[in-house]
Parts: sequence; C-alpha cells; structure tokens
Amino acid sequence: IVCVGRNYAEHAKELNNPIPSEPILFIKPESSAVPFAQEIKIPTTDCHYETELAILLGKSLTSASEEDVQQSISGIGLGLDLTRRALQSKLKEKSHPWEIAKGFDGACPLTNFIAPNQFSDFTNIHFTLHINKKLKQSGNSSDMLNPIVPLIAYMSTCFTLKPGDVILTGTPKGVGELKSGDVLELNLMDKIKLTSKTI
Ligand code: ZN
Repeated sequence: IVCVGRNYAEHAKELNNPIPSEPILFIKPESSAVPFAQEIKIPTTDCHYETELAILLGKSLTSASEEDVQQSISGIGLGLDLTRRALQSKLKEKSHPWEIAKGFDGACPLTNFIAPNQFSDFTNIHFTLHINKKLKQSGNSSDMLNPIVPLIAYMSTCFTLKPGDVILTGTPKGVGELKSGDVLELNLMDKIKLTSKTI
C-alpha cells in the first residue's frame, strides 16, 4: 500500500504542515489491510481517521507513462489511512520515519473496488465520511495537489509498483480521532456505500 502525505492543501494547513513541492511517499505493509465492512479495531485512543481514494493496480509499473498508468488501474475504492497521530508527531519531531504510527495491524481498512470505467473523469471523484451521522470529511480528487494518474506515474519512478498494490491518494481536511463505538459511513459517489463500527 503506497501512500502520499499532504496531497490536499487544506489538510496540510489543518496539521500546520507546509505544502510540499514534491509528493511525500510512505508505505503501509500488506498486513495493515483489512476489510472496511467489518468492525474496525482501533489500537489506542490516539487513532485518527484519514479517508482516502484508493486505487488498485492490475499491472506492473516502472517509470511509467501516464498512458501506462491509465491502463494499469483496475479498481477504485476508499481506504482509511489510520494514524496514531501523537506517536506520528513525536516521530516527526525527531525526523524519524513514521511507519510504526501508520503501519500497525489493521491500519488500512479498505472497501471493495469498482471498475475504473464506472468513472468518467478521474479528476472529479467525490467521496465522504460520516461518523455517527455527522459529515466529517468531504473530498474531491479535483483538489489533489498531485492528481491520481501523474501521482502514480511519479511513484513508479521511485520504485516498481506491482499488480495488487493499492495507492492511497491522500486525505482531505477534517481528520480526527476515533473512539470505540463510532459508526463510520463511507460513500463514493453512491457507487460504494458502506458502514462499519469501531471496537
Ligand atoms: Zn493519509
């Protein structure tokens, strides 16, 4: 699971982070992936949600062109980039890698994936997260600093991407802490509507 940090200007601002000149990449291990449509186990009281468009790759990509990237996308869904925020802040202060704050077991609940031909424009995909019926995050890929296709092309110049890899494309503003018993509803343009509960 390859992720990008601060891909929405408004989210960078809410965490008092500067807007990066190049994509900030990090990886969550395969063992962090769990289905969204079951209970979400949160490890501590320090666990924050970040709702993100998730792109499933069907082909290998090395220094790929944007056309290669278009052809490699085999599914579009949503993921939560769960983050132990206080731990991440501590690691960032020391300029240490923040993987342990984002790579724990269950740190990446994922929805099912929809065929890419269900979306006419990758630069206009809308999604929301409600918690306990309240709108918490509302994002549109049109607000990404690095849009989906060029972002994945860039990632493939850093390392080879493989079939089955999932790209998390960053979170819009509105991140916050999860508490046990929260009811989360994800909606991807009414093509995906799923509910889960934290324990
Ligand atoms: Zn994220």
